[in-house]
Amino acid sequence: MMNQEKDHQNLDSKRSKKMKNKKNNIERNIREKYPLISYQELPEYMKDNEFILNYYRANWPLKQAFFSIFTWHNETLNVWTHLIGFILFMVLTIANAEHISQLADFMTMFIRNFPTSGDANISQNSKGETTRLTDQHLQMDITLSESATNEATWPFYVFLAGAMLCLLSSSICHLFSCHSQRLNLFLVQIDYVGITIMIITSFFPPMYYIFQCSPHWQVVYLTGITILGVCTIITLLFPVFSTGKYRSFRVGLFMSMGCFGIFPAIHALVVNWSDPMRNVTLAYESSMALCYVIGATFYVSRVPEKWKPGLFDLVGHSHQIFHTFVVFGALAHYGAARIFLEYRTRFGCDNR
Ligand SMILES: [Zn+2]
Repeated sequence: MMNQEKDHQNLDSKRSKKMKNKKNNIERNIREKYPLISYQELPEYMKDNEFILNYYRANWPLKQAFFSIFTWHNETLNVWTHLIGFILFMVLTIANAEHISQLADFMTMFIRNFPTSGDANISQNSKGETTRLTDQHLQMDITLSESATNEATWPFYVFLAGAMLCLLSSSICHLFSCHSQRLNLFLVQIDYVGITIMIITSFFPPMYYIFQCSPHWQVVYLTGITILGVCTIITLLFPVFSTGKYRSFRVGLFMSMGCFGIFPAIHALVVNWSDPMRNVTLAYESSMALCYVIGATFYVSRVPEKWKPGLFDLVGHSHQIFHTFVVFGALAHYGAARIFLEYRTRFGCDNR
């Protein structure tokens, strides 16, 4: 009996050793077939940052590029920083959608269950006076609450969708741009389009909710940023602007879109100076701006790898820091957008 057990154990350990060897062989084959290479060995189109010396993938098939998400190379953390950001925003979107639909369901249920005929159709106003509600009034209340919910939340979701699009296109770009020159250029341009769309959509919640009671200003500012964004996209679709030489130019374009926000921000401060939420939203939006500026500074300066080329190839180079600050900036803007949304949903245009 004891011998039989020992045989079983031996068989198991032999089997697991065999499996381990097989896995090691596959990994060795991949490594031999698709080795990570140095900056010097890169094809010209991939030479972007001369301070990152090693661990590059180049001309990898799509399948190998896809599975490299689980292995170490100098793009691993660039992929994951924005992929985690994307997942985070997806969870926030789902959580908000559930919360808002539950709230809407509750409101509708509450209004519909309200007595609608006979003597029970009576309500008390704030002074304690009783008033009779008609079916017509109730129907109008239901319609208003439904349309208000629909109207008030869409700019918030436009921003969430823009953030998710930007973060996902960036992750995909970093994962697959090692495949070929054509795909590299295409994905890099998609990445820039994603960033531009995120900046445009970031304007939607503050512009919509702050100027909800003066719709012509909503139109002016939202049209202004959209035109600026379309011009940015058209410019960045010229392949020459995707090269390392134009790194500062690209940041300048994105920054100028962000700086456009200064006009409505000053306008909003003047108009809403007595707003009780002024300081909180200002704090959120200032931290967002600070995150984007710090991130962009790392992106352009290529610090810290510039100081010690080769040391930050895998962990800690400027692009990873830039990505992290982009996620933090977007989260700060999300915080502000939620306050704008809640404030308008609760008070509408009357509390000014
Ligand atoms: Zn990136």
